[in-house]
Amino acid sequence: MQHKTTTLEAATLDSGQPRDSLIGGSWITHTNKIDVINPVDGSTLAKVSSASVEDCLAAVDSAHAAFESWRTTAPRARAEILRKSYELMIVDHEKLARLITMENGKVLSDARAEVAYAAEFFRWFSEEAVRIDGDYRRAPSGANWLLVTRQAVGVALLATPWNFPAAMATRKIGPALAAGCTVVLKPASDTPLTALAIAEIMKRAGVPDGVVNVVVPSPAGPAVSAMLKSDRIRKLSFTGSTQVGAVLLAQAAEKIINCSMELGGNAPFVVFEDADISSALDGAMLAKMRNGGAACTAANRFFVHERVYDAFADGLTQRMSALVVGDGLDPKTTVGPLVSRAQQQRIAELVASATRNGAEITCGGTASTDGSFGFQPTVLTEVGFDAPILNEEIFGPVAPLVRFNDADDVLAHSNKVEHGLVSYVYTRDIGRGMRFAEALESGMVGLNRGLVSDPAAPFGGVKASGLGREGGHDGLLAFLETKYVAGNW
Ligand code: NAP
Repeated sequence: MQHKTTTLEAATLDSGQPRDSLIGGSWITHTNKIDVINPVDGSTLAKVSSASVEDCLAAVDSAHAAFESWRTTAPRARAEILRKSYELMIVDHEKLARLITMENGKVLSDARAEVAYAAEFFRWFSEEAVRIDGDYRRAPSGANWLLVTRQAVGVALLATPWNFPAAMATRKIGPALAAGCTVVLKPASDTPLTALAIAEIMKRAGVPDGVVNVVVPSPAGPAVSAMLKSDRIRKLSFTGSTQVGAVLLAQAAEKIINCSMELGGNAPFVVFEDADISSALDGAMLAKMRNGGAACTAANRFFVHERVYDAFADGLTQRMSALVVGDGLDPKTTVGPLVSRAQQQRIAELVASATRNGAEITCGGTASTDGSFGFQPTVLTEVGFDAPILNEEIFGPVAPLVRFNDADDVLAHSNKVEHGLVSYVYTRDIGRGMRFAEALESGMVGLNRGLVSDPAAPFGGVKASGLGREGGHDGLLAFLETKYVAGNW
């Protein structure tokens, strides 16, 4: 793989790419810095200001100071700022995409798709901001009136992961601002540049000082804990691992903070014997390889009926072998590197342990040897129902295939893991597909479709995959409290 020669300045918004905290509308430089690492060669891409606990508390104070005025800003005015942010993201589409590729490693086509997806959250929630509903009814007893209104929850702390540095930020900022909340965004320290660039776009779109604050504390733990303890945070919206989510839920419990949790996944991908195999393969590639496999929605466990198993395994092996691992900015590349050396080693160990348990490698199976964090797209066949690899979120380009012959059996295995974010089902029998979808323990189901993400739809999981939904109308409700007035007038 050729190492990048592109400089950050050449590839990103402009030489003024923000690398500092945004607090109260000002860019604040701190002495401590975080290195943002280029996953292609491990070099330092940029140094970003690392916010101290005090800096983070100052961001919370500034969001708190801005709250009253933002909450009472006309919904249409809030909507216009979100709409303008959408438009400016589209103007800067290519620059943002290159920035995502540089700090995250995903290929440019995936990064472009992410920018479009991320910007859509601003457009969708600009439209939702003016549709905050209420209710006015006579009580059934006839004794009084029931008036129901919705109010912004308050200052929201938003914490996001590295795998979708733009979309996970806008999926939270959009509904929060639409509802009238002010926010402190804490992006992942591996990929802070995209979030800072989006904050800069929002400033240009006219977001008032203090409404959107961004801090990148490293380490994250003490700063996030201090913010949750500050008495000023009323909402925590977290996207990340189940492990960290559980820690934060416990911390939020101390102050009874309203929580939304978008956590890990371990999606089953079930191919019945009557499925259209070519369409199932298209869906499998999308569900497995979007973002190089580093997506919470990634298909992690392929359960394929024995009658179509060989055809599916051959087809998937062919398609996965045709992928080209390399620098995400190179147009020939179809799979970028993983985000870190640690993640690359983890995937290698998962594959090795699967083969020790009897799996066969039909393609890939090895880490890139050119110093990058790449891993060859891998298909593992003859994986047993009880193989340990099926119990872990792989988060990389590895597809384990399990043979099945009984629908009840495959349903039980689909549901037996702790996660329940999304499942995929391929069958030509829509009745069977719908019954299966209903019985699957997951918040979302792709029925003859390998992609479920849509800003207009409620995204989220059950069990260890989280609490609450983002996107759709539900995404707005997550940042609103319901107030009920019982009255006689
Ligand atoms: P992560 O390690 O849980 O980190 C997520 C965020 O939490 C980052 O901003 C991180 O900051 C911060 N953090 C880490 N440890 C913390 C602590 N002790 N206290 C407070 N904050 C802490 O997750 P990740 O590795 O970035 O992301 C991958 C995970 O996210 C996967 O499990 C994936 O499935 C999940 N995910 C879920 C969805 C969904 O919608 N359900 C979407 C995308 C990703 P630092 O970066 O500074 O450590």
